[in-house]
Amino acid sequence: MSDELIAASNLISLLIEAQEDALATIKAGNKPESELRLQLLGAKSELTRLTRQIGRVPKEERQKIGPVVTEIKRSIEDALNAIATDAPPKNSDWVDVTTPGIRPPEGHLHIVSQAIMEVTRIFERIGFTRVRHPEVDWDWYPFESLNMPAHHPARDEWETFFLEYPGKPGKDPHKQKIVLTPHTSNGQVREMEKGKLPIRMINIAKCYRRQIDVSHTPMFHQFEGLYIDKDVSIGHLKGVFDHFVKQFFGPNRETRLRPFHFQFTEPSFEVDINCGICLGTGNLANGSPCKLCKAGWLELGGSGMVHPVVLRNGGIDPDIYSGFAFGWGIERTYMMKSGTKLDDIRLLYSNDVRFLEQF
Ligand SMILES: [Zn+2]
Repeated sequence: MSDELIAASNLISLLIEAQEDALATIKAGNKPESELRLQLLGAKSELTRLTRQIGRVPKEERQKIGPVVTEIKRSIEDALNAIATDAPPKNSDWVDVTTPGIRPPEGHLHIVSQAIMEVTRIFERIGFTRVRHPEVDWDWYPFESLNMPAHHPARDEWETFFLEYPGKPGKDPHKQKIVLTPHTSNGQVREMEKGKLPIRMINIAKCYRRQIDVSHTPMFHQFEGLYIDKDVSIGHLKGVFDHFVKQFFGPNRETRLRPFHFQFTEPSFEVDINCGICLGTGNLANGSPCKLCKAGWLELGGSGMVHPVVLRNGGIDPDIYSGFAFGWGIERTYMMKSGTKLDDIRLLYSNDVRFLEQF
C-alpha cells in the first residue's frame, strides 16, 4: 500500500463513486441479498478498501471523512434491507426446477347448475327435449291460459311479481299484464303454440315469488315436464316418474300418486317418493320411527293430466290428444337427493365460497 498522502476531497469522491456503484448493483437485482451484502460491505468490498485509505489523509482533514463513510454505509444497508426476502432475485436466469408449482384455485359449477344438467340428461334419455320459455311473460301464459282467469282465488298461491308495462298495452286480450313467471307452467301453452305434436318437453327456468324466509328464496328453479300425444294415460305419467326417481335418486326408490287439485290438470296428483332412509316402511331397523319422512313417504311435487281447457288454449283438440304435466323445484329435489339438510335455503344464493365448495 502506498504511503503517499491523499486529499480528503479525493477520497470522498472515490467513496461516493463506490456508493453509487453499490446502489446500482443492488437495484439490478441479479443476486440474493446475502451475497450482495458480502460483496458490497464485506472485508473485500470496495468500500472497505477505501476506508482503509483514511490513514493516508492528512490528520487535520480526517474528521471530515468519518460522517461521510457512516452515511454511505447506512444508505447501502437500507437498500439491502429493502430487498431482504427469501424470494429469488428478479430478472435473473435462476430457476429451481424442484420448486413445487403454485396451483391456481379451481372452481366448479354451482350445485343448482349441476342438478339442472343431471335432470336434463335423465329426461333426454326417454325422448324429452329441453326447451326455454320466457321468464318475464304475459300474465296469460302462467295464469289465464292455465284455467286461472283474472281474480280467480287459486292465483293467490303464486305470490306473483307484476311488472309495469312500458307504454300502453295493445288490444290483444292475452297481452295486457306482465309478470315474472311464478312457475315454469307458462311454458305449457307456449310449447303447444309451436304447433308440433307430439310434445315431449322439459322446461327448466328461474321462477319468482314474493317470498323470502329460511325455506323460500324470491328466485328459484323449477323443471316442468309436458308430454302430449294420442292416448297418453296416467300409466305413462307414472312410468316417467318411476324412470326419473330410479335414475336420479337410486334403483330402490319408488313413487306414488296422491289425489290433489290444480286448476290446470284433471285429475291432479301430488307425487311422493319412498324415503331413502327407511325405504318406505316409516321405521328404522331398530324399530324407532324415521325422522326424515311421514310414514315412509316424502313429497316431490305436483302433476296431473293436462286439463282440456288448457289443451284448447294451446290449439289442441282434447278429444284427440291427451297429456300429462309436472312441475317440481330443482333446489328442493336436489336437497332430497343429497340428503343435505339446509337450515336456510338462502345460503344457496349467498355466493359464500365456504358453503358452495362443499358440493
Ligand atoms: Zn323414512
